[in-house]
Amino acid sequence: LAKKSGKNNYEFYTPELNKTMTRKTKIERELRSAIDKNQMELFYQPQVDLNTGEIVSVEALLRWKHPELGYIPPDEFIPMAEESGQIVPIGEWVLKDACKQNKTWQEEGHPKIIIAVNVSVRQFQYGNFIQKVEETLRENALDPQYLKLEITESIIQNINESIMVMERLNELGVKTSIDDFGKGFSSLSVLKNLPIDTIKIDKSFINDIGDKTSEAMVKTVIDLGLNLNLNVIAEGIEEEHQVNKLLENKCFVGQGYYYSRPVPAEEFVKLLMERTLIY
Ligand code: C2E
Ligand code: MG
Ligand code: MG
Ligand code: MG
Repeated sequence: LAKKSGKNNYEFYTPELNKTMTRKTKIERELRSAIDKNQMELFYQPQVDLNTGEIVSVEALLRWKHPELGYIPPDEFIPMAEESGQIVPIGEWVLKDACKQNKTWQEEGHPKIIIAVNVSVRQFQYGNFIQKVEETLRENALDPQYLKLEITESIIQNINESIMVMERLNELGVKTSIDDFGKGFSSLSVLKNLPIDTIKIDKSFINDIGDKTSEAMVKTVIDLGLNLNLNVIAEGIEEEHQVNKLLENKCFVGQGYYYSRPVPAEEFVKLLMERTLIY
């Protein structure tokens, strides 16, 4: 009813505001059927060895290919999906599609790489999450060591439950990563208790490389991860001098536009052929 009256109130809004409202309402309303209509698509961004440029893993990033609005970025609809609970079926679709794709690449004979999949807290803490992960791996016959789940620091809101889920994932052999690490800077105190494999340094730190004070922060975050025996990945690498600084500070893996933007599967497979070791 609210949406309907919003539409009828058209003349009360300025054209600009009205345009945003229409877009938001449209997205909200159509999100529910987007999967059934085959409008969801995963893009892939390589994660590379910063010394050699070789691809060591890949992150799957969701795009909504809307018939009128074009590609809608996740930042625009994921928060809505989290709010409405739609994130659960969407997240299951993402997990399935990513695992299926990785298995396909393996069967095509490419070097085996880990696929990193983003998971929302709400999805992560949903009752049957572990079961879904198990089922997806089994259905696609994907070895669990080739799946990594990326979750943000916001799991801290429900830390004990999250630790339990992570421990189950560990038992399954699935890797876990803290995404956007350092952004909320609440994670320091709990980091030691989390059974994780990787921290992914938030791109704001990488963006700040070049500034003396901020560089001290980057170094501190990297050292923290290394001292805890975690893998450390950098995101948002756009320039060569950032690569050099990361290497200097012993961060050896990263991703960013400098190497490649997230690309559709057909394009990623070309990168996979060009930029991996043949063995
Ligand atoms: P994220 O997981 O931290 O992903 C990194 C974001 O940074 C991606 O934005 C990526 O395209 C962008 N990026 C990569 N390299 C660079 C760079 O060099 N410079 C800059 N400025 N940006 C770079 P994207 O694809 O728009 O995704 C935004 C966020 O949406 C993701 O952040 C993640 O939190 C969320 N997201 C994406 N896909 C999914 C999904 O399947 N499920 C869930 N729950 N969240 C997702
Ligand atoms: Mg991520
Ligand atoms: Mg991130
Ligand atoms: Mg992010």
